[in-house]
Amino acid sequence: MNKFCTAINCMDGRVQEFVSCYLKNRFSAQFVDTITEPGPNRIIAEQDDFHSIRSIQNRLRISIEKHNSVGIAIVGHEDCAGNPVEKSEQILHLQKSTQWLKKQFAGIEIIALWVELSGKISEI
Ligand SMILES: [Zn+2]
Repeated sequence: MNKFCTAINCMDGRVQEFVSCYLKNRFSAQFVDTITEPGPNRIIAEQDDFHSIRSIQNRLRISIEKHNSVGIAIVGHEDCAGNPVEKSEQILHLQKSTQWLKKQFAGIEIIALWVELSGKISEI
């Protein structure tokens, strides 16, 4: 059976493959459903872009309900054009995003990833 997990990743092409490889291994999944936005950790943490939040929720619901996704990752990365702030602030965005996601989607594992352009990935 197909096994899915879900990434809420930046649209930045430099981080797609690193995140996909990491999550397939992390969740023992074959496929990674990917929701991309510019700096999604900022969008979810700030909660002021209603349209984007709704869109992210709708896409998460499809991944969880139709694909039975086993885990969700919210991603922040170095040199992000959509969230051009210091790493320390991006980490706060990741933490806030994780809290919000856990409230929205109980019963599914939710993790936060910090990605460096070298490909190094740390769970926050
Ligand atoms: Zn980015």
